[in-house]
Amino acid sequence: MSSFASQVKNELVHVLGSQTCCKMAELAALLRMGATISFNSKHDFGINFVTENAAVARKILSLFKTSVPKIHTEVTVRRSRRLRKHNNYSVRAIPSPETSSILQKLGFLTAKNLLDAGTDRNFLKKDCCKISYLRGAFLGGGSVNRPEGQYHLEFVTDNYNFVKLIYDLCRELYLPVGLTDRKNVYIVYLKESEAILELLGLIGVEDDLLRDFESARNLKEIRNQVNRLINCETANLQRTINAAVRQINNIKLIKRYDKFEDLPKVVKQTANLRIKNPEASLTELADILKCSRSAINHRMRKLDVLAEQLRKGDMAK
Ligand SMILES: [Zn+2]
Repeated sequence: MSSFASQVKNELVHVLGSQTCCKMAELAALLRMGATISFNSKHDFGINFVTENAAVARKILSLFKTSVPKIHTEVTVRRSRRLRKHNNYSVRAIPSPETSSILQKLGFLTAKNLLDAGTDRNFLKKDCCKISYLRGAFLGGGSVNRPEGQYHLEFVTDNYNFVKLIYDLCRELYLPVGLTDRKNVYIVYLKESEAILELLGLIGVEDDLLRDFESARNLKEIRNQVNRLINCETANLQRTINAAVRQINNIKLIKRYDKFEDLPKVVKQTANLRIKNPEASLTELADILKCSRSAINHRMRKLDVLAEQLRKGDMAK
């Protein structure tokens, strides 16, 4: 995950919906992203949630605690043994009547299992709740690229019901999301920088971070412009050099045919200056001779025409 995505998530951890409805919505989306349900012999339900992001683990914990103050939770950290070492944080709400009550409130017990996200619609009537739900989904399974790279924000889940709900909610909030799949996962994505900024702002990313994103974006646009200018300048440069090389060859040819001294004085003067300044543009030559660019151009054409005639043998002896 890019450090920008981590920055965004670390910030979103501190954003809490002010109302209970919003907190429940956020918790529901987070659980849809990464929770499994366990139970004990008394048929009390428990929740296990695993994440690689410490901030997300903190958020789950705080949502548990604010929904049911007496809930009993456990957090374990496992160091990954793989090469890319990120820790795995596992947050457990121990099977108990309190944990069961959270699942009851979320409607997860009446649904067949965690996969049926359709029931979440029941508490997603208001925009505040929809936004909180998207924040939870982003924390649990979202990612966003650094603005210096390609603009890309996505929600990833293997649950089609859930991804379709995320897609619909984004559309209801006028965000131009797309929906696609890759291997065994579904992806809701945004590709436009403006829309990415809007979504991040909606779910509660602070202005400072958004400004970073925006200034990086502007920088990128300026860099593209500069590149275009440089490309354009390179093309001009190439044209100038090509013309100079042709002119110098013409002058040398004219000298070889002993026709140089017959030329008008200003043409000879211009030709000598060209030989001495092979890299100069016509404008620069005009500046040195204190005449117009078109006068220089005219003299160069004279040299071109004469050289061309000599090449064809018209004036050869
Ligand atoms: Zn709400």
